[in-house]
Amino acid sequence: MSHEAGTRAVVLGGSIAGLFAARVLADAYDEVQIVDRDKLVGTKGIRRFCPQSHQANGLLARGVHIMEELFPGIVQELKDNTVPSGDLSGSCRWYAQGNRLKQQHGDLITLGVIRPVLEWHIRERVQQLPNVTFVEEHDILGLTTTPDKSKVTGARVQARDESTDKVIEADLVVDATGRGSRTPVWLEQLGYEKPFEERKKIDLAYVTQHFRVRPGADPFGKDVAINQIAFPSHPRGNVFFLVEDGKWELTTYGILGDHPPTDQAKLYEWLKSLPAKDVYEAVRYAEPLDEPQPFRFPTTLRRHYHTLKRFPEGLLVTGDAITCFNPVYAQGMSVAALCAIVMRSHLHSGAAPVPLDYFRDLAKDAIDAAWEMTNLVDLTFPGVPGERPLKVRMAQKFLKRVQIAATRDGKVTAAYFKAAGLVARPETLQRPGFMLRVWLKSLLGPSKASRQPYVYRAPAGVEPVVRESAYPEAA
Ligand SMILES: Cc1cc2nc3c(=O)[nH]c(=O)nc-3n(C[C@H](O)[C@H](O)[C@H](O)COP(=O)(O)OP(=O)(O)OC[C@H]3O[C@@H](n4cnc5c(N)ncnc54)[C@H](O)[C@@H]3O)c2cc1C
Repeated sequence: MSHEAGTRAVVLGGSIAGLFAARVLADAYDEVQIVDRDKLVGTKGIRRFCPQSHQANGLLARGVHIMEELFPGIVQELKDNTVPSGDLSGSCRWYAQGNRLKQQHGDLITLGVIRPVLEWHIRERVQQLPNVTFVEEHDILGLTTTPDKSKVTGARVQARDESTDKVIEADLVVDATGRGSRTPVWLEQLGYEKPFEERKKIDLAYVTQHFRVRPGADPFGKDVAINQIAFPSHPRGNVFFLVEDGKWELTTYGILGDHPPTDQAKLYEWLKSLPAKDVYEAVRYAEPLDEPQPFRFPTTLRRHYHTLKRFPEGLLVTGDAITCFNPVYAQGMSVAALCAIVMRSHLHSGAAPVPLDYFRDLAKDAIDAAWEMTNLVDLTFPGVPGERPLKVRMAQKFLKRVQIAATRDGKVTAAYFKAAGLVARPETLQRPGFMLRVWLKSLLGPSKASRQPYVYRAPAGVEPVVRESAYPEAA
């Protein structure tokens, strides 16, 4: 780049990871351009090239904290736009192994916002940055480099309605193109080694639908969500939470091929098969607002850039382009936010970031803990292929005990969700005092209250959409 033009960073992909990256790059470069094949500016609905936007995309507490740090006031802005908020361990109703966990406020903010609305708010804030521009409806075709291929100098892009490509020159290119990232292929073409790709076959499927709960038919009390975690003997689960405008988003999921149906009547039956019947009973009295939308997610994926020996200068990778977690644990967007924080620390040194240093810090500070958690839980399902060394089996046994203890002790619930919400390191669950507490509280098994079926009281004068109740007493 000429000094006259100033310094420029180009972000490939303008989804969540690209937007967080652009925010931190805007402080370090004179100009930031975001390239995406979708129409971004002003798009409030679901984008064609972001199909997961149909599904529940919850931002963990750590992600909310970073979002607020990068865009001060955004949480209040969301709340002002009817986005409800709650506490992950205090006002969400959780079921683990079919048992209801004791609730306790954990200072773990959760926002009830559907993905396109969240993305719109973040993008609006990025648009307000004076040195950021969007290159929309452009396909990214490849990278340009110096003749010796040691440094990336820009990206080759093509407008979707044109037949010729052009080059956007840049001092730094950041790949945020998601799971389908072409960086491994480009590296190989440039004579570099591809990163090792670690995958776990989980054969997961989601089905999501939105509802309006009828007045007088609200079964939730103060709770903003009812979530059931799938477990080995019952590989089905759901998240059901209050979102903006008083609507409810229901995502059902099943792993290892036990997939929820998209047919409405069969979906009601499927809901009835979940260990706790609250969600089915709530939905029986709710008005569906759209059709059930499916999404398949066959494998998790991590690209080990941090173990490479050589990498061209001027190129970084972030977000799903590096790691695609099992989406059930809602880690992707928060890890994308963490990636931006790591990126910022490498930009603030004043010099151009050294890619391999960035990747090593990214692994250590943003990805490892979340990835290990995902793997640990995925491997509790005997059908998920992978090694289960003694350390993993012990950690799985302990996690089971944590979930049992959490039916009796709200402090355990809060600590569990602090780790799951990426606010605390997983090691905090292994402190001797906490382990003793878990051990003692789990000795007698799940509490009696946690196994009591939730009795749904049908509201007077409100007719159910689905007639058959899961409980005789609720009819
Ligand atoms: C079913 C499902 C549910 C999920 N639920 C959650 C959740 O609850 N919580 C959570 O935190 N995360 C969740 N995730 C993950 C989350 O969606 C991602 O982590 C998040 O979107 C960040 O991804 P990204 O920005 O890296 O990539 P993406 O969101 O995939 O975006 C990539 C962008 O790059 C653009 N692009 C790609 N290739 C090209 C090209 N060649 N030319 C031009 N543009 C291109 C695309 O148009 C797109 O805008 C879920 C994912 C799935 C699949």
